[in-house]
Amino acid sequence: MLVTLKVKLLTDSEQHSKLLETMHVFNEACNFISQLSFEKRIFNKVKLQQECYYEVREKFKLSAQFVIRAISKVTESYKANKKALHTFKPTGAIVYDQRLLSFKGLEHASILTMAGRILVPMIFGEYQKGVVDGRRIRGQADLILVDGVFYLLVVVELPDGSPTDTKDFLGVDFGIKNIAVDSDGEAFSGAKVNGIRKRHAKLRAKLQKKGTKSAKRLLKKHSKKERRFATDVNHYIAKKLVAKAKGTGRGIALEDLKGIRERVTVNRLQRRQHNSWAFYQLRQFIQYKATLAGVPVVLVDPRNTSRACPVCGHVDKKNRLTRDNFCCQSCGYAGPADSIAARNIAGRAVVMQPDVGVA
Ligand SMILES: [Zn+2]
Repeated sequence: MLVTLKVKLLTDSEQHSKLLETMHVFNEACNFISQLSFEKRIFNKVKLQQECYYEVREKFKLSAQFVIRAISKVTESYKANKKALHTFKPTGAIVYDQRLLSFKGLEHASILTMAGRILVPMIFGEYQKGVVDGRRIRGQADLILVDGVFYLLVVVELPDGSPTDTKDFLGVDFGIKNIAVDSDGEAFSGAKVNGIRKRHAKLRAKLQKKGTKSAKRLLKKHSKKERRFATDVNHYIAKKLVAKAKGTGRGIALEDLKGIRERVTVNRLQRRQHNSWAFYQLRQFIQYKATLAGVPVVLVDPRNTSRACPVCGHVDKKNRLTRDNFCCQSCGYAGPADSIAARNIAGRAVVMQPDVGVA
């Protein structure tokens, strides 16, 4: 499994301007190449290289490898659509490869710029340290600029453990009141996270009204805190679920991400609480922790998971008269709606098992 880590670069001001200049020139070169590619209708990488390599080198004073990366970026971009001219922002990502970037342990990255190589300290988050723990990371990364800070998006390959061959699954349903509920009926409450979000939302409204510089600073600090808390909760839930699945020899079944957004209908107030990034993150955590533990993850069709009866299979909108309660209109089976959904998810994974491997 490939995991992408966002690693912060601790540049000093000189390094910052070197990287920024490189980024600008690189994207300028991309725009030049794009123009040529579009006008001459050359979208093949090799042909485009033959056409413009020397000209780009000469014109932008870029190293050979940078020119090749720029051509690559342009041809990749045109793969999706050749009907319009593609342009690139001055601060668009640079794709670095091993010849342009290398890592010195987990402390430094050696990065090529227009002004030569620079050695930049970097910081890995706690979660990231866990992922790369003892693993060599390859010198292949996207350099991006977010809010004035440079990051490297590093792709790390995680060994797939040795997936247990299982026909039994722990289904997990995501929600708002409960962040997650499994098919055994265990619920992970969202009360604490939602409480903090609500408090912060109130404070946010107040501070936004003020609009002063210090209010803005405070606002930023608080949203950071809120995120960090939600991240901790997600780690905790993912760890628990994976440990349970592993301990009972089961795989984990989840709904498709697309399905979650469609199915969870929320009113406006809840929508703010229903931060999709938090759910996306929880799924990522479950997937990577499961993969490390050798627990297979199966994604199932999310349609009607909350309306189908896990006992008799009857599907009916009326089976779920309120958000929290399920009662089958056909056989009378009743229970909390979210754990019923989780049971349906687990059931679907068992049925579709022969077709899917480890996610
Ligand atoms: Zn039923």
